[in-house]
Order: sequence, then structure tokens, then C-alpha cells
Amino acid sequence: MDRDPSLLPLPDDGPVQRPFWDAAKDGKLVFQRCQNCNHAFLPGREECPRCLKPDLVWEEASGRATLYSWVVYYRPYGEAYKSRVPYTVGIVVLEEGPRFASNIVDVADPEALEIDQPLELKIEVDDGIAIPRFKPAVAV
Ligand SMILES: [Zn+2]
Repeated sequence: MDRDPSLLPLPDDGPVQRPFWDAAKDGKLVFQRCQNCNHAFLPGREECPRCLKPDLVWEEASGRATLYSWVVYYRPYGEAYKSRVPYTVGIVVLEEGPRFASNIVDVADPEALEIDQPLELKIEVDDGIAIPRFKPAVAV
């Protein structure tokens, strides 16, 4: 049965992505690290995007990150987002290196966001899905 379009779409929880979503349910953000070249990255893959070796392990992120870039959506991306506008989607750089696309939440004024500002992990359960998101480490 198709999911109600007013709800967030379910994530890909196939074997490659499942560890990520299982960790989120446990309140953690995890990323992959290559055991061959030490590259750390997201989203999960079957092989390292740098050296193409399949020798990968999942590691837990500290939850500390900085803001690389962001956009504020004033028009909803789809049906499930209509009640959410305006909302902010950013690229954050985890302390461990991976870049991660995330909602930036708990932002009273998106105009006050700044490049490189410190962020911290906030896992929210939204439409039944545990989703790693980020909020400013210092309120803005
Ligand atoms: Zn590698």
C-alpha cells in the first residue's frame, strides 16, 4: 500500500542504508569510514567513493558540525512539506569530515544563519521516522 502523501516519504532502508536508520532510532548519527584510505563519508555506500574499496565500517558521529551552506524553502517540495514551510535545508560538515544534508531546525530567524556556525545533532521523530537533524549550537 502506498504511503499517505501527506506524510514524509519512508527512507531507503535497504541493506546499505539500514545501519544509518537503525542508529537514528537509537539516537545516534553514524557515517562510514573506509578501512583502506580512512575517508569518512555519507550517505552510506557499498564501496568507498575515494578508493572504491569495499572495506567500510560505521562510526558514531560526535554530533558536532558546522554549517557549510543552506537554503530556506518557502514553497513546499511536496505534499508532505506543505505544513512545514518555511523550512531550512543545509549541508553540514560533521566534525569527523563527512558532509551531510539535513534540516536545520530550531532556527527562529533563518536570516541569522551564518557559514561555519557551530551546529549540534538533534534527532527528531517525524511522521514515525527517526531523522538526524541539526540545530544551532548557540540559539539564533
Ligand atoms: Zn577508501
